[in-house]
Parts: sequence; structure tokens; C-alpha cells
Amino acid sequence: MRADTIPARFEVLDERFANCRGDSRFERLYDGCRWAEGPVYVPAGRYLVWSDIPNERMLRWDEMTGNVGLFRSPSGFSNGNTLDREGRLVTCEHGNRRVSRTEHDGTITVIADRFDGKRLNSPNDVVVRSDGSIWFTDPAYGIDSDYEGHQAASEIGACNVYRVDPQTAQVTLVADDFERPNGLAFSLDETLLYVADTRRNHIRVFPVDRNGDVGASKLFTDCTSGVFDGFRLDNTGRLWAGVGEGVHCFDPDGTLIGKLHLPEAVANLTFGGPQRNRLFITATTSLYSIRLNVTGAWTLSSSR
Ligand code: MG
Repeated sequence: MRADTIPARFEVLDERFANCRGDSRFERLYDGCRWAEGPVYVPAGRYLVWSDIPNERMLRWDEMTGNVGLFRSPSGFSNGNTLDREGRLVTCEHGNRRVSRTEHDGTITVIADRFDGKRLNSPNDVVVRSDGSIWFTDPAYGIDSDYEGHQAASEIGACNVYRVDPQTAQVTLVADDFERPNGLAFSLDETLLYVADTRRNHIRVFPVDRNGDVGASKLFTDCTSGVFDGFRLDNTGRLWAGVGEGVHCFDPDGTLIGKLHLPEAVANLTFGGPQRNRLFITATTSLYSIRLNVTGAWTLSSSR
């Protein structure tokens, strides 16, 4: 299937961004979503899966043919997706209020649906560390209304960040001082965890030790225009964030060095393609891609 193309507008705010640019056009790979989120590239299958939350479905774009088809429907109002260390799909489900794993045989395993005996709100985004631990955010967007899930009261009464132990499957609290935790990712060496708070509109960074214990956070950056949602790192540690108005790129020191402007509000993104230099962006109704002069951080979880 031939994709539409749209002129790409890069805004260079710092010379460190000048060499990051790539193609002069975005490709629009699909445009039939209601609210596109949670892209994950699957290298072994050369396809990308993402969520169309209000339509309660997951879609798959085939890199070899350009075709798009249903991956899963109903999807439990899925949102964020990633791959674990074995290449299995890990999915946040607003509607089922859980994080799940799709096994190699296609069956679905519940990874987490409760904390301290109470149901989760509506897991939003997820990342897997190299030790197999699964980290996710749990804001209330999927229980605030029936639009992206099922309206309900929060049992926990807070919007937290959690970690699932790879051996015991125990869910532990990582942070309880967020209003709407959303995107998250690890630094390249996994000594730092970045977490966005969409309501406060900033990204905070936590030190993480080898055992997965987290220290006190500090501010990484505020969002100067738009709203922080999902993000990924490239292989130099730059952070690429979906912010509504487009994509913002941050140096590891927290400086906003450049922007990509898109015609629709951006929620999330991921790097993919055989060389991992293709940025896939979920933006409202559409899935876009653009080849950049940078490479995504190489990991099966596609997020560090
Ligand atoms: Mg999100």
C-alpha cells in the first residue's frame, strides 16, 4: 500500500539537533484511528502494532507490504505496548485494568491487575528492564469516562508508578507522588528512570540501582508547549517525546534541542525498522513514520 507523504517540519533549537534530521517528508501509513497510542515495533516479524484506544482495537502495520489490518479486537481498550526480553508483547489495558503479556502461543497472561489488594486504575505505558522487571504507570484516564475504558471510581485513590518483580510477580510501588504518570523509559545504562507526569506537564528522573530500588526524583524538564505523553530514547541517550503539538527532542542534559511538527496531535512514538532509524509516531487518527539520522536505543523492550 502506498503511503501519503507530508512535508516534514523540523525546528532546530540547538545545534545538537541539526544532525538528527532525516527525510524531508513524513509518511502517513494509516489514518483511520480515533486516538492512536502505544506503538511497538516487532523486529522479528517486521511489523508494528499499536492501539486505537476508543475503538477498542489494536492494529498491525506490515513493513513488507505496507498493509494495515486488525491485530486484536476487542483489545480491552489497550494503550501502551512494549516487548519483553524474550520478544513477547506486553500491553497496558485500560478496560481490563491490567498489564498483560501475549505468550508465544498466543495465550494472554495477566502480569498485574491489583496493588495491595485493590484494582489498578488503567495502566497507560510500560517498559521492561533487562532484569525482566516490568515497570508501568497507572493514571486514571481509562476510568475517568467510558471513552477510553469503563468509567469507575479509583480503588487505590492515587495514580502511581509500579514495578513487577520478574521472579515473584509481586507489584511494588515505585512512586506515589504523581498526578497523572504517563510515558516512562530507562536511560541506556538503566541507572535512570524517566517518568512523565501529564497533568504537571514535566518529566522527572529517578536514580535506579542494580536491584531496581529507586531513589529520590528530580526534574528532568518541563514541557514548554504541548503536553507530555509517551517517549523513547535514541542510542545516544536523547529523549524523543510525544507532546501533542509534535515531537520534542531533549539532550540527556534536559535541554530541548529540537522539534518535529506534525499535522495532528502526537501521543506516542517508537523507533523501528531493520536499522532502527525509523521513527513511528502515533498521532490522533494516524500512524506516521520518518527516517532520521539517529538510531533508536537497541533493546527488545524498545525503550531504553
Ligand atoms: Mg500514554
